Order: sequence, then structure tokens, then C-alpha cells
Amino acid sequence: MSFVDLHSHSTASDGTLPPREVVRLAKERGLSALALTDHDTIGGIAEAADEAEKVGLDFLPGIEISCEYAPGTMHILGYGIDPKSPVLTDMTERLIEGRDNRNPKIVAKLQSLNVAITMDEVEAEAKGGVVGRPHIAAILVRKGYVSSIKQAFNEYLAPGGKAYFDKERLSSKQALGMILESGGLPVLAHAFQLRTENDAQLETIVKNLVDQGLAGIEVMHSDHDAAWIEKCTRLADRYGLVKTGGSDFHGGNKKDIDLGHAAGRRVPRAYYDALVARLQSVKKAG
Ligand code: AMP
Ligand code: ZN
Ligand code: FE
Ligand code: FE
Repeated sequence: MSFVDLHSHSTASDGTLPPREVVRLAKERGLSALALTDHDTIGGIAEAADEAEKVGLDFLPGIEISCEYAPGTMHILGYGIDPKSPVLTDMTERLIEGRDNRNPKIVAKLQSLNVAITMDEVEAEAKGGVVGRPHIAAILVRKGYVSSIKQAFNEYLAPGGKAYFDKERLSSKQALGMILESGGLPVLAHAFQLRTENDAQLETIVKNLVDQGLAGIEVMHSDHDAAWIEKCTRLADRYGLVKTGGSDFHGGNKKDIDLGHAAGRRVPRAYYDALVARLQSVKKAG
């Protein structure tokens, strides 16, 4: 049996390992393929692809986009996107601008709450990557304002927290359109995080995304227990979606998640092969 990880983050966004080291770790863990799916950026793709070639690991470029959605979180993964696509470049620039508008608001609010933190520190924490709330959370932990990243989110950074600000998001239609136009396959990430109330509501959302061009659904994820894997598998079968899976590895920013492991399960190589086969069939048709 061979295993893969199709959901991972590096220092290009809010992971703590550089792209090269995520690839090396995948190799160490005995995986045969990896997708790097940083938030709003393909900044880590070239480095990861280069290292994957060196160590002999199959590699798929990816991205993860946050969409307008309530009450939970809707993230769309894009696999096999062309890093040179102008649509992709424009859109990621715009998303990063949205972050650049939001992050100083969070920092100013924290300062008003007598938390000693500056944008310079946040930028330094992000090491040149796309700045996300986990970077701010890591500073709050290091300075002793909270005892964990989780607590930083609960008290300050998550909706309802004392320093929560939203950022500009794309509609699902825009996100899927952008991924499709840049030659990628859009996949619904961690459906558990949609926080739907029942299976019918989940199916309505998935059906709507399918109408917008959704190609896959993340079945295995660190948040998915057996019941969620079953729900997502059923939806995949019903709507002809490819099944994907990954850990959502973030290095030290999510200490309980290890690369190659999704809630105690391992993602079969067949998921990667089916995803690549679908990408190739779309490329041929297009
Ligand atoms: P941002 O991209 O800045 O909006 O931050 C999103 C990142 O924060 C993602 O990596 C999430 O996994 C992480 N995140 C969101 N909510 C929480 C939470 N309640 N606890 C820990 N991490 C979270
Ligand atoms: Zn993240
Ligand atoms: Fe996500
Ligand atoms: Fe993720």
C-alpha cells in the first residue's frame, strides 16, 4: 500500500516548515505523493516542485481559497493549477490585499486591549509568506497572553473573539471559476467545517458547488471522523466527484497534525491517481 497527502501548508502561508522541508518530511514519512495547498498563494510551489523532483516524490501544485460563507468556513482547494496563469496571479494578489487590509485592524485592536504586538512582529513571524491569523496566534502564545493557538483563536481571533476582523473573500463561484480558468480542479475542503445542520443542507451546498464546476470533495481530513468520511464519500459517488484527502499539515502551528495522517487514517495513493487522471481528462477535453 502506498499513501499520499493532498492538503498541506508551508511558510508560503501559515505553515511553519519551508516548502522544501514539507516535501522532505513527506518523503521521510514514506509518502509517494504530496500536494502543497497554501492559503491564497502559489509562492511555495516552485521550491516544493524542485525538491520533489530531487527526492523522487510525485507532486501536485495546489492552493486553498477561503470563500464567502456563514456560519462556518468554506475552503476550496485547487489542484493542478498552472502557476503562470494570469487569472490566478491577479486573484491571489487581490486576496493578499484583502489580508493586508485586515491584519493591521487585528493588531490595532489587540494593542487597544494592551497586548504588546506590532505589524513588524507579525510580518517577521510570517517569514515573508502570506500573513494569516495563526501567525498572530503564535505571537500571542510566545508572549504568554494565551497558552495555545486554540486559545488565541477562541479569545481573540475567531468570530466572536475580541480582535476578530473578517477579510475580503471570493464567492464560491469566483473561486471555482478562477481555479477552472487556471487549469485546475476545484475540490471542497473539510466539509465538516461548513457546520451544516443536517445532511440535506450539506447536499444542497455541494449540489450548488457542483453546478459551479466542483470536481471533487475532500473525504479524509484531520477533522473528519468515520461518519464524515461516509457522508463525503456518498456525495462524491452521487455527484461524480473525485475523492481527495490530506492532513492539513501546518507544522508547529497545528501541533496535533502530522503529515500523512488524517485523524488516524492514511490517504490511499488511489486518491492521487484518480485526481491526476481527472486533471488529464479535463486538459484533453479543453
Ligand atoms: P486566515 O487565513 O488568516 O483567515 O486564518 C485561517 C487559518 O487559521 C487556517 O489555517 C485555519 O486552520 C486557522 N484557524 C481558523 N480558526 C481556527 C481556530 N478556531 N483554531 C485554530 N486555528 C484556526
Ligand atoms: Zn492555514
Ligand atoms: Fe482550510
Ligand atoms: Fe488548509
